[in-house]
Parts: sequence; structure tokens; C-alpha cells
Amino acid sequence: MKDVRVRFAPSPTGYLHIGGLRTALYNYLFARRYGGKLILRIEDTDRTRLVDDAEDDILQCLVWAGISFDEGPGLGGEFGPYRQSERSHIYQDYASRLVETGHAYYAFDTAEEIDEMRKRHASTENQKYDASTRMEMCNSLVLGEDEVAERISSGEPYVIRLHVHPGHVVTFSDLIRGTVSFDSGTIDDQVLVKSDRLPTYHLANIVDDHLMGVTHVIRGEEWLPSTPKHILLYRALGWNPPQMAHLPLIMSPTGGKLSKRNAEKMGIPVTVKQYREEGYEPDALLNFLALLGWNPGDERELLDLGELVQAFSLERVGQSGVQFDLNKLKWYNEHYLRQRSAEDVARDVEKLLEAAGIISNRAYVVAIIELMRERISFPSDILESRYFFRDPVAIDEASARKRWKEDSAELVEEYANRIEQLESFDHDTLENVLREIAEERDIGAGRIIHPVRLAVSGVSFGPGLFDLLHILGRETVVRRLRSSARILG
Ligand code: GLU
Repeated sequence: MKDVRVRFAPSPTGYLHIGGLRTALYNYLFARRYGGKLILRIEDTDRTRLVDDAEDDILQCLVWAGISFDEGPGLGGEFGPYRQSERSHIYQDYASRLVETGHAYYAFDTAEEIDEMRKRHASTENQKYDASTRMEMCNSLVLGEDEVAERISSGEPYVIRLHVHPGHVVTFSDLIRGTVSFDSGTIDDQVLVKSDRLPTYHLANIVDDHLMGVTHVIRGEEWLPSTPKHILLYRALGWNPPQMAHLPLIMSPTGGKLSKRNAEKMGIPVTVKQYREEGYEPDALLNFLALLGWNPGDERELLDLGELVQAFSLERVGQSGVQFDLNKLKWYNEHYLRQRSAEDVARDVEKLLEAAGIISNRAYVVAIIELMRERISFPSDILESRYFFRDPVAIDEASARKRWKEDSAELVEEYANRIEQLESFDHDTLENVLREIAEERDIGAGRIIHPVRLAVSGVSFGPGLFDLLHILGRETVVRRLRSSARILG
């Protein structure tokens, strides 16, 4: 494919959404696959909906995820500036051109007047500002030229609207959905320039896509209904529209669109920031999102970013909504967490320990991670096993009832006494000594193993017992065995 140019164009009206990251990823994969360029464009013309730190959040999350751009704010590029608020002067010219050529018009209606129009039409299906209602409104299609000029020069607020002609079909071809058609009668006279003189998303978006040489628009399905307006705008300006590709919706596990509300109800984080804070691996998130709507055409599920680039194509992006499966994401996370060196994970764990006020040392944390690697989904899971860092404050009652027998205190004491004398405190020696006691007394080893585990950890599950004892160290083990024997004895 020749000279591919694609863009990710978030609006800083909220933190980067997980669906937004998927859109960014698909654009990234497409650009890298075809040796094209990826542009980051900040669509911040809706000043009323701006969230102060949203742009920072979006930029940081993209960096964290490992999605790199070729052009964008702070990166430069020959088509900048890449923040729409810095491009206002550009849109004005195109808006005027649209009015001059009859593809757009001035409208002076106040919000109240539009409300009243809606009320008047409340009983009908159509309450849009469009061919069927616009003639009863106050705009340059009904007012004389002089009056329009006068109103504008007297400073009366106005908007510029797209002039949509009913009675024809707007058709475009979508790389994922094939031919898509909309009846022009269902399209409203979209506001293109607001009364603050800033363009709406629709105008700014198509002007920038054109001026920035965007070849493919890859975005979420929620933008599909806006596309016929965009097509009309491209035609009105005499431009060829880019190729369109609308990605399937991300659905909640119980059906329906994964909205913020229903996601929260099911404990599914919606912002990338949350995933980051919960300790997800960026590679896991990317691998998971890549397969949320696309497949490599074979059985593979685990693909790193390089492999995704090699395998990606829009042809294998599906049309129908895809269900979000948090368990699947956790499975990816476990995989990618295991790919990291214990030293590396230890750095994350140390930060968490520090925040929890727990003092530890690197070698010890690394040993724990090596031992727990196959059992954890997140670095923070290490902290769940408090016994690595603190003597248990209580022994799990249900387990104690089941596992702590009459002779347990005595057996635990005996084990403590013997291991105190050992020359070497390693896995095999610890096991041999325990089995010796069992043999001497003609009891099953489990009779000692379970109480010992309870005594040192407070719980009845965890890594292999002798590995655990080895890591905890002789002093700690002996102390815990004796104190539990005393308390439970
Ligand atoms: N600014 C739009 C958004 O927030 C971009 C839609 C598009 O990609 O055209 O998602």
C-alpha cells in the first residue's frame, strides 16, 4: 500500500478510554504494517467539554502502552499544528467557502427557539434542524441577504450549518462494512461552526484529515452515523474522502455496549489509567485489545507488538460487536508478567511495599517473585501474601479447625527444635527432617506439613512448603512455629 497516513484523533473530554486505546492500536498496527505514518491529533474544539488533565492523561497512557507516533503535538511534522485549538484560523476559511458555494448557511436561532421548534414537533418523529423544519427557523435560507449581513455586522450570535438536501442517498464504501448507505433525509443540518466561532468536530475533523493527507480513517463504529455528513462535506469542498474503516463496538460481557456505567457495575475498568494503576502489563493490554475485533487468521492468541504488526490487516477486522472478557485479559497479563525478569518485577513490587510501609530488600523480593511467578496475575498479588513480610497476626480459623489437631503443637515444636540444629537450611533438608519425625511417630507427613504451614503463614494455601520455609529463613520460621504452637497449643 502506498504512502499510508493514518491518525488517532482523541478529544480531551475525558481520560483515555480502553476503546480509544484499541483505536490507537489499530491505527498504529496499520501504519507500521504498511510502512506509513501515524499522526496524533488532539481534537479540542469543544471547549465546554474539556477536562483539564485529559490531554496529559491521553499522551501519558499512549506512551505507557508503547504506541509511538510520527507526527503530533510535541513531535512536530510538516502538517502541524496538531492541536485543533491552534488551527482555528484554518477552519474559518473553509466554513466561508461552504457558505459561498451554498453548501452551508448562517442560522441565528437561539437555544430557546430551537427548543420551541422541538416542542412544536414533539408529536412527530422529526425534531431535527433539517429540510423539514429549517424553513420555519431564522437563517440565511429564509432571510434576505441584507438582513443577514446586518445581523452579522451588528454582532448577533450565529452558527453555520451544513445544508443537507433531502431525497437522495449518501453512499460510501467502508473497508470493514462494505457499502454503507444513508438516506439524506435522516441527516440533520449539522452545525459546522458554533457561536464561539470555533468549528465543531465534524468540520475540523474533515478539514484536518484532508490537509494532513490522511489516507485511511480507522475509528470506532460510534462514528459511523457521522460519516455521511463527512462525505457530504468532502464533496462540498471538492475533496476525495479518505478510505473509511469503522471498528466493531466493544460489548459488555452481558450484551449491550460497554458503557462506563455497565462496565463499572461489572468491575471492568474503563480508562487506561485504571488498568495502569491496577498493575496490568501494557503488552498484555495491547495483545488483548488487538484480538478484540481482529484475528490473525490462525490459532495464535499470543502475539507481541512486532508479531501483531506483521499479521495485521483490516480485512480480518470483524463487523459485529465483540465481548469484553476481563478474565481473558487477566490470562494475558499472567503470560506477560511471566515474561519479565524477576529483577524487573521486583522493582514494581518494591514500590508497592514502600507505599504499604513494608521494608524489604531486593534479593528477598526477587526470591519471592521467582517462587510465586506461576501463581500471580499482578505484582500486587505478592502483597496479598503478607506472611512473606510479617509474622501472621492470626491463624485462619476454619483451616485451624480442620488442620490443627491435638498433637499439632507438639509436632510443630519438635520440628522447630530440629531445624534449629540443622547445618544447612535448604529445601531437601527441611523436607527430610519433617519426614523423619513423621516416620519416627508412624504418622503421615501431612499431619505435620499442614500445621507447619498454618503456623508460619496463617493460611492453608501458598507455594510449596519447603520452598516457603527456605525463603522465610531459619530465624523467622523457628519464631513463628514456636509462637503458633504456644498460642494454638
Ligand atoms: N475526536 C473524535 C473522538 O474523540 C475522533 C473521531 C474520529 O476519529 O474521527 O473520538
